Amino acid sequence: MQLGIDIGGTYLRYEIKHHGDSVKKGMLKSAGTGLCSFIESFLEKEKNITTVCISYAGQVRDGVIMGAPHIEIDRHHIKAYIENKFNVILYIENDLNCVVLAEAASCRSKDVCAIYVGTGLGLGVISDAVLLRGHEHIAAELGHIPYKETPFRCACGKSNCIELFASGSGLAAWKKYYGVDPDLSLQALSQVQDEKAKRIYEAFIEALLHAAGTTITLFNPEILILGGGIMKGNEALEDLITSKIKAYAMPLSLQHVKIKISQKKNAALEGAFLLKDYHG
Ligand SMILES: [Zn+2]
Repeated sequence: MQLGIDIGGTYLRYEIKHHGDSVKKGMLKSAGTGLCSFIESFLEKEKNITTVCISYAGQVRDGVIMGAPHIEIDRHHIKAYIENKFNVILYIENDLNCVVLAEAASCRSKDVCAIYVGTGLGLGVISDAVLLRGHEHIAAELGHIPYKETPFRCACGKSNCIELFASGSGLAAWKKYYGVDPDLSLQALSQVQDEKAKRIYEAFIEALLHAAGTTITLFNPEILILGGGIMKGNEALEDLITSKIKAYAMPLSLQHVKIKISQKKNAALEGAFLLKDYHG
């Protein structure tokens, strides 16, 4: 049996699969939940698990957690520790890498980029069927490319990152700054009769267009998937981005690219289960 885990800044979701079928699912708050201690207590109860597959919202390299902006780390060398203590194989990969593995598998393409707008702004890239990781396994940190100066500080330490405009945490910061109702969704921001709310919405869309256009220009994907909590259920964004992207990417790269909103419930968890079969 396989244990799949998707840990982000807010929730830890898990699922047990047996011969590909889902046997058990669950969810708990990430705060106060150490990933390593969660796995240990799980494996002590569930003796039939042979594989642990983890999608991790942070920087991971060769089974070692190097850093995470929104998750408390209770053990860095998690693969070696768990494999030595239990008779299992553990895979762990950055969440956006898991996401793009799942998206690419579904659309059967070798050139896919996935931009996810959640707490942050993340990107996963599969180019010619290979996951793009970079020398230190921190490639494609789209959210932290310099964009415009803001009155806030990003989790990375800078104050001009593009995710300070196009992310859940960015939206929250601007709502607080302008005194706009913190409960307004992205869609609601565009609909209310409030100049400040409209300004936040427009700045979000412009930053997202910059991020998407830059991604298309740099990586030349066949398919660009847009997903994440902020995009979910926002199908209108697909048309909006497609109609406006021309001004934000190199014309030649735009010729054959398809831009789609993700249809997946949890691409990160789905991708985590694919890690054991990915040998890139
Ligand atoms: Zn940053």
